[in-house]
Amino acid sequence: MSDDGLIRVPGLVNGHTHAAMTLFRGYADDLPLMEWLERHIWPAEARLEPDDVYWGTRLACAEMIRNGVVCFWDMYWYPEAVARAVRDAGMRAVVGAPLIDGGESSRSKQLRETAIHSLDAIAAAGGDAVRPALAPHAIYTVSDESLRWIGETSAERELPIQIHLSETEEEVASCVEAHGVRPAAYLDRVGMLGRRTVLAHGVWLDAAELDLIAERGATVVTNPVANMKLAVGGVFPYPAARERGVAVGLGTDGAGSNNSLDLLSDVKAFALVQKHVAGDPAVVNAHEAWEIATGRRSDLLANDGADDYIEVRGDSPELSLGELEAGLVYAASGSVVDATVVGGRTLMRDGVIDGVDEVVARARERARRLGIDSPVGVEVPGVGS
Ligand SMILES: [Zn+2]
Repeated sequence: MSDDGLIRVPGLVNGHTHAAMTLFRGYADDLPLMEWLERHIWPAEARLEPDDVYWGTRLACAEMIRNGVVCFWDMYWYPEAVARAVRDAGMRAVVGAPLIDGGESSRSKQLRETAIHSLDAIAAAGGDAVRPALAPHAIYTVSDESLRWIGETSAERELPIQIHLSETEEEVASCVEAHGVRPAAYLDRVGMLGRRTVLAHGVWLDAAELDLIAERGATVVTNPVANMKLAVGGVFPYPAARERGVAVGLGTDGAGSNNSLDLLSDVKAFALVQKHVAGDPAVVNAHEAWEIATGRRSDLLANDGADDYIEVRGDSPELSLGELEAGLVYAASGSVVDATVVGGRTLMRDGVIDGVDEVVARARERARRLGIDSPVGVEVPGVGS
């Protein structure tokens, strides 16, 4: 600890999110997944413009910087606006456009054009701090033909892939019915299961799928808080994944479904839910959980920026006594983070982020434009009626 009580530790890596969904925070909460998506989120997303995504992402970046996140993996519309926001905020991110063809191979050509265009646009807008990725939404929204093309393109161009996998039990049943195999085996069949692939969720993976994922070297990013809030009914089988040496990361998922981007709070939820479900407090320890939250249990998520770190307040009530990693995982929240530094540039010091007031004001304006700004206790005409 330095004289001022600050302790330097690695920054956190948010392995799965949809940053601009901060715009939908607190909107249509407490609903089942498909009803939430189909009746509320998708109609609102249809009205999105690039500037909405830009300011929503800036708001997410401010929140993540405040909570000690230095790098995140993002899948969202107008990814060039996401990339520009990441660059302007000073963070790092792996950014991909959601690729969807509705499972129709006749629309695969259009998906490819979107993908190629977005990769170039992300690279041009984001600069060095942003890595373009391929982000097929899920196996139930993308055709076999497109998934094969994504697998080939990832291999040829050495691009990361991020995809939602095995989030609900229904997804597994539909996959078995349509393809005769479970989701991980299906991804392997279409050439998408490899070292550059992040699988978000993995709630319903079985033992054979975990064997396959370990063998292929893909990373599973678990999103325990979003999964519990949407009540998906299961928990990522972490003990079985660890036994097989599966690379694991931690994500918040979007603020529409979490609703927080505080990974320090989610790492506690991750450790607790795993212990609780296994009936064994030793099933994950603080050291492991901390490594997972900082991306160090996956070569793909590992953030090798030597000048990326955070400083936590060692004299805060939460961290003043006891072992540091246990304090960070079980006692702390983002409020212990004093400074966040990315690429040697200080993005927050003394808990203060320059320009955050403008970011909040502009994000509020954009949410209002979308008709979804309804602060608690305030009646907004036209909303919810
Ligand atoms: Zn997601």
